[in-house]
Amino acid sequence: MNPRTPALQTKLPKVGTTIFTVMSALAAEKNAVNLGQGFPDFHCDPKLVQAVTDAMTAGHNQYPPMAGIPALRQAMADKVLALHGHAYDPATEITITAGATQAILTAILAVVRAGDQVIVLEPCYDSYVPNIELAGGVAVAVPLTPGTFRPDFDRIAAAINSRTRAIIINSPHNPSATIWSDADMRRLQDLLAPKDVLLISDEVYEHMVYAPNEHLSAARYPGLAARAFIVSSFGKTYHVTGWKVGTVCAPAPLTAEFRKVHQFNVFTVNTPMQHGLAAYMADPAPWRDLPAFYAAKRDLFRTGLAQTRFRLLPSEGSYFQCVDISGLAVPERDLPEADFCQWLTREIGVAAIPLSAFYGNGFDQKVIRFCYAKRDETLKAALERLARL
Ligand code: PMP
Ligand code: GLN
Repeated sequence: MNPRTPALQTKLPKVGTTIFTVMSALAAEKNAVNLGQGFPDFHCDPKLVQAVTDAMTAGHNQYPPMAGIPALRQAMADKVLALHGHAYDPATEITITAGATQAILTAILAVVRAGDQVIVLEPCYDSYVPNIELAGGVAVAVPLTPGTFRPDFDRIAAAINSRTRAIIINSPHNPSATIWSDADMRRLQDLLAPKDVLLISDEVYEHMVYAPNEHLSAARYPGLAARAFIVSSFGKTYHVTGWKVGTVCAPAPLTAEFRKVHQFNVFTVNTPMQHGLAAYMADPAPWRDLPAFYAAKRDLFRTGLAQTRFRLLPSEGSYFQCVDISGLAVPERDLPEADFCQWLTREIGVAAIPLSAFYGNGFDQKVIRFCYAKRDETLKAALERLARL
């Protein structure tokens, strides 16, 4: 008998391999400077590694509680209260997740039913729409204002109807590096006040907001906090993207539904990392000093780019820098963004991410994204190559 794999109808017909994986593989193959996928090329604090090592040595190697170890949930509650003035109960309102990616998927699976609509603001992180579709929901894409990437509240309001279950926001924003203002957060709060619409607030870049601005978490706005899953990621804050540990803060009734899915999704998240992170969080310096650390890298990179023909967009938050390629001297500037990024990686030796990858319809605005979470030598090597264009 011939073994045969049964025919399968894909659940995600539009999905291939993520752009981040594709560009990192190409950068490695071509030995290019990888400013594409967002991750640091430097080490995390050795004290954090030691804290995790200590936890393993002390025998913290079995299943932790389903929602995460109490000490880490308490440390998150303390930080959110100190920074944003909202008291989450760590017992019933904070859950430790396998990174923000799992947090977002689990929140969506917990609340989105077949046919429900979820508003996403494009450009948006690439997991949101497939997550919504896996839940049987329908993603409704509302564009951020072209050119400035500001939220367009008239369009958001127009997209809300009786089938709208949730809206996903992301500030600081990947990929545009913009942040939401107090006025933006208040507009959203007012808009949602009379509606039964939930909020998923992806705040993974919360500690990368540059002076004079500060991060305005949804936790600061009672009308938003009451309806929000607020998503954080230790990977971004502590330079450990590969550890995949994050948190979700949400009111108790939302957390209860979240945990129903979480317990059958991952059940729980690796124990020694949680103990190590809890111990490390006793010192606020690592996240408190992060804006100055990244602002210096941003400024180094922007100063160098200002000498090139790339047109710089603002970088108010996150570790990304977007540039417009239309003024470059090379004919490849007229290629679609994705092809330009392939060419830039292969021929110039610098990997970047096309903004078109963050739009369902592949909208092309001649803008590409660089990540500056890199050693200064890496940034300088990239700048030297980019100066040729
Ligand atoms: N949301 C956004 C906007 C991101 O940029 C990332 C980082 N890839 C994630 C979520 C996922 O974070 P994590 O690595 O913690 O899953
Ligand atoms: N968030 C990172 C980025 O935007 C990549 C994460 C991933 O590879 N999925 O570059």
